[in-house]
Amino acid sequence: MSLKRALIFLGPPGAGKGTQAKQIAKNCGIPHLSTGDMFRDAISRGTELGKQVKPIMGRGELVPDDLVMKMVEERLSRPDCAQGFVFDGFPRTLGQAAQLDRILEERGFSKPLVIDLAVSEDKLMRRLTGRWTCSLGGEIYNVYDAPPKRPGICDVDGGKLVQRLDDRPEVVKERLAAYERQTKPLTDYYREKGVLETIDAGAGVGEVNRALRQVLNGDKRS
Ligand code: ADP
Ligand code: ADP
Repeated sequence: MSLKRALIFLGPPGAGKGTQAKQIAKNCGIPHLSTGDMFRDAISRGTELGKQVKPIMGRGELVPDDLVMKMVEERLSRPDCAQGFVFDGFPRTLGQAAQLDRILEERGFSKPLVIDLAVSEDKLMRRLTGRWTCSLGGEIYNVYDAPPKRPGICDVDGGKLVQRLDDRPEVVKERLAAYERQTKPLTDYYREKGVLETIDAGAGVGEVNRALRQVLNGDKRS
């Protein structure tokens, strides 16, 4: 990826944004910025922000833009973000996208590359209700499609695997509705800017990763 560029992963909850974004960030040597992870971290540390967002996330609604933007601007001002970064789960509203455009321009970044991970809703349910995450390092598993070697234990660091509270079916429904209402319009927003690449993310992790690399290498033969 060229220098001073942001990569953005769009897609509904459970599409595989975290799974793919982590790998790409690691390979490119740039930070992986998941606003969801940042909020969960604030909740587990019991900060003021954590207290504010906990009930909102518990209902499956989006956190208000002003809280999201304050946290993101602070994160982007750190030195490790100087050359580029991978966003996972941000932006999620047109307001956030417009503010991000301004921030990137102010900091001399080129236009972002936006990857939309497209998956059908029946697959999303299976992915979300089967998701388990390492409580230490954040490694992502799926009891159906990407199970750990030992049940409940992370392959990488031996951490305990936990299920997110908002992956319960009743909250998932609300999160999918919030996606349709507030986040899906971003695909048109970025398509009109000519920076959107859509990937069929219904295939397995490896296949999606290959398609993604082809896009990143500017090779559109897939
Ligand atoms: P998101 O960040 O978009 O919510 P995750 O990366 O956390 O999505 O993935 C959601 C769940 O689906 C996890 O359990 C993960 O292991 C699983 N998963 C991710 N990508 C795939 C894939 N291509 N095929 C099957 N399962 C996947
Ligand atoms: P997923 O992609 O699986 O839905 P995330 O970890 O990205 O999960 O988000 C979990 C929750 O965190 C969201 O349902 C929402 O409440 C909150 N959240 C994360 N990122 C944002 C954002 N950019 N704007 C508003 N709310 C957010």
